[in-house]
Amino acid sequence: MTIKQSFGRPATETDTDIAIVGGGLSGTLAACILGRAGYRVTLIDRHRIIPEEFRVEKISGDQVETLQRLRLLGPVSAAAVAFDDVVHMHKGRVLDRTNGRHFGFLYNKLVSALRTALPANVSLIFGQVHGVQTGAARQRIAILGHDEITARLLVLATGMGDLLHRDLGISRRSVAEKRSLAFGFNLRPVGAKSFRHAALTYHGVADGIDHMNLFPVPGGTRANLFVFRDPRDPWIKSLHESPKDTLVTAFPFLSETIGDFEIVGTVDSWLTDVTIADNCQQDGVVLIGDAFQSSCPATEIGVSRLLTDVERLCTVHIPQWMAASAFDRAKIAAYYGDPYKQESDALALQLAALRRDLATNTDLRWRTRRQIHFLRRRAVHAVANLSPALATKLHRLAARYVKSPARSPA
Ligand SMILES: Cc1cc2nc3c(=O)[nH]c(=O)nc-3n(C[C@H](O)[C@H](O)[C@H](O)COP(=O)(O)OP(=O)(O)OC[C@H]3O[C@@H](n4cnc5c(N)ncnc54)[C@H](O)[C@@H]3O)c2cc1C
Repeated sequence: MTIKQSFGRPATETDTDIAIVGGGLSGTLAACILGRAGYRVTLIDRHRIIPEEFRVEKISGDQVETLQRLRLLGPVSAAAVAFDDVVHMHKGRVLDRTNGRHFGFLYNKLVSALRTALPANVSLIFGQVHGVQTGAARQRIAILGHDEITARLLVLATGMGDLLHRDLGISRRSVAEKRSLAFGFNLRPVGAKSFRHAALTYHGVADGIDHMNLFPVPGGTRANLFVFRDPRDPWIKSLHESPKDTLVTAFPFLSETIGDFEIVGTVDSWLTDVTIADNCQQDGVVLIGDAFQSSCPATEIGVSRLLTDVERLCTVHIPQWMAASAFDRAKIAAYYGDPYKQESDALALQLAALRRDLATNTDLRWRTRRQIHFLRRRAVHAVANLSPALATKLHRLAARYVKSPARSPA
């Protein structure tokens, strides 16, 4: 990895095969894969030290499998705590227990760890990109404090940042405004060295609270709480002002189940608009991750979506495009039309709507659906106590129907 200083003497003009703007999770993963494939890659991000921004803090299931397939699980696991057993609660009682590999982490530490895994042919530049010019043959990228970069292909992985979208005439279509509220905070046990369960998910009861995950991260226990309520709801204010009291009221028997606790530090919060980029089929430039489509955090599927983008783009489409002399919009369209990408994008939207209805909709259809869901889980749990092998089979079967993100054969 070559690190060019953001401040100090500007570097001379740099020409590269692929310039990636945005070194969050999407951009850094893409740079790792493309660098390993032997391309000259320049990754540009405005932050040398990644700020503590609230984003994904736990991965599992297909996300772990994809990272393993891409040979990127090593750096992820180095920055994370692995755990397998999760206790699920609903209405003050244990609903069931699930088992599967999860990793808990802090986003900035995860991305930093991935940066250290960048191969030598990836140049990392710290600076704000303030302008881009694109075309079928050449892309020009202007970076504050640096010389201009030219590239054959530009990958935009700028998350929810809008500056460069506007430059390119790309707009964001809002699919669901103020879709959900996510809260993140740290918990510490009181009167004990550790909590009784390393990880717990507490499911809500159609009162706008979707679910809360408690899980280990390096240095402690983290909570992610997902809510579909108006940001002006007094409940939100009370969560910020007296988080513990608000939680023990919303989640009966929480302290009895995990042990007494206190909340340390601040309660981070994030209000999400689910958006999709419009007019992005253009010569010479592709969008990945949240730059293309943001996800409702409550679905916990944002990483599955961005991994599909990264895997399909970097292992299927870019190798085909690099063999050609130009990157016109007709070629670029193949990435946006990729069936795996389309399926994972659509699934993320469907799940966002589903979670909202599960958390808020009180009409008979949704009440019945919820009851069946939790009854089924309680029944499987009862079976598990009698025959664990049969219960594992039932869990796998159910998981296939509940959440089946696109799987790339690549
Ligand atoms: C609160 C919250 C909770 C979430 N929880 C989950 C979860 O539990 N499970 C899950 O799967 N997903 C979750 N997600 C979604 C997941 O975090 C995102 O999908 C993922 O972080 C997007 O990564 P990204 O690289 O596309 O964007 P980002 O992480 O936002 O990275 C964008 C990068 O671009 C850089 N950048 C932007 N503009 C410029 C510029 N002009 N010049 C230089 N650099 C620039 C920024 O500095 C940043 O580093 C959650 C999201 C949120 C907000």
